[in-house]
Amino acid sequence: MVPNKDELLGKDIEELESYMISIGEAAFRARQIFKWIYSKEVNSFYDMSDLPRELRKKLDTMAQISIPRVLKQRVSQDGTRKYLLELRDKKRIESVLIPQGSGKNSRYTICVSTQVGCPIGCSFCATGQAGFQRNLDYFEIVGQVLGSRRELKRKLKSNEENLISNVVYMGMGEPLLNYNEMIKSIYMLNHPKGLGIGQRHITVSTAGEASGIKRLADEGMQITLAVSLHACDDTLRNHLVPLNRKYPLSALRDAIEYYISVTNRRVTFEYVLLDEVNMSKRDARNMIRLLKPLLANVNLIPYNEVDGLDYTKPSPPRIQQFFAWLAEGGLNVTLREEKGSDIMAACGQLKAGYSKMYRN
Ligand code: SAH
Ligand code: SF4
Repeated sequence: MVPNKDELLGKDIEELESYMISIGEAAFRARQIFKWIYSKEVNSFYDMSDLPRELRKKLDTMAQISIPRVLKQRVSQDGTRKYLLELRDKKRIESVLIPQGSGKNSRYTICVSTQVGCPIGCSFCATGQAGFQRNLDYFEIVGQVLGSRRELKRKLKSNEENLISNVVYMGMGEPLLNYNEMIKSIYMLNHPKGLGIGQRHITVSTAGEASGIKRLADEGMQITLAVSLHACDDTLRNHLVPLNRKYPLSALRDAIEYYISVTNRRVTFEYVLLDEVNMSKRDARNMIRLLKPLLANVNLIPYNEVDGLDYTKPSPPRIQQFFAWLAEGGLNVTLREEKGSDIMAACGQLKAGYSKMYRN
């Protein structure tokens, strides 16, 4: 693709109309093009069969639609798919598609990346180890959903536009450190003429970017906020999630209380279970003290082991013990079903560029 072509992906209908007028074409063409992009994930003007031949040629010389290409993919035994996508500057990101239900009518949750790498550097996370390269533009986040859906449709031989029903911002990167692009991408995914994914079907996960949480509260959205907690005392959390040094637990709690008071929505807390690290009775007591007043949902995630990192996944009895302490303490707790770990597609295992992980 030629970098100085005009990028049409990410323009809303009004912007596309202005663009068409600016190149001396009829405004109504914008709607046709928009439909091709968002219903059919088309990125070649030559495939837009209801545009006049001359217009297709003209657009091809001056514009582009950079829906990222799926370079490689892997499919897990449980049906989870991991896609390696290439961006315009050849940087690579990963997205994960997780089937909900089985059979012909199953829908997928897509786990999207918001950054290439991640600047936070959590000590247990593969993405965090790979360092930070850059933020994604909002149209790259939307393009990731379109590119993944195109590939999924192709593989499943499906024409179903609603194949992807949920979006979780839990891939590579910290969404609230790429705030503006993240919000714009949510509006685009949610827009009825875009992908039409309901706000209640969208979850944003943060490592605890307190100022971003407050900003998000003021957006008046119906999305779910998930906060990656992982420790309930500052010493341990400083070590696991270095962002805690900037926003210690007291600052994080203030931001979450603000979020709840403004949005009236329950917040989910993610807690990765690291054997011998954050699962003692004392850890359980600290969590109950911190979270009980917040009417929170707690989601325990057994650690997905990462090559080269020293953390280990706890045994099932230890997981059950920790779960029971929390439940007895009155917390609303669930255990996250592990998906895709056989293809390194589970939470925290994404690190793109390690293409030997892919067979295709
Ligand atoms: N940066 C954001 C969103 C991406 S990470 C965040 O940290 O919330 C999504 C979730 O996966 C987070 O809860 C994260 O802590 C968790 N995670 C990271 N590495 C993991 C691993 N190896 N095993 C299990 N969960 C992990
Ligand atoms: Fe970044 Fe989230 Fe991984 Fe921490 S867990 S390094 S914030 S992607």
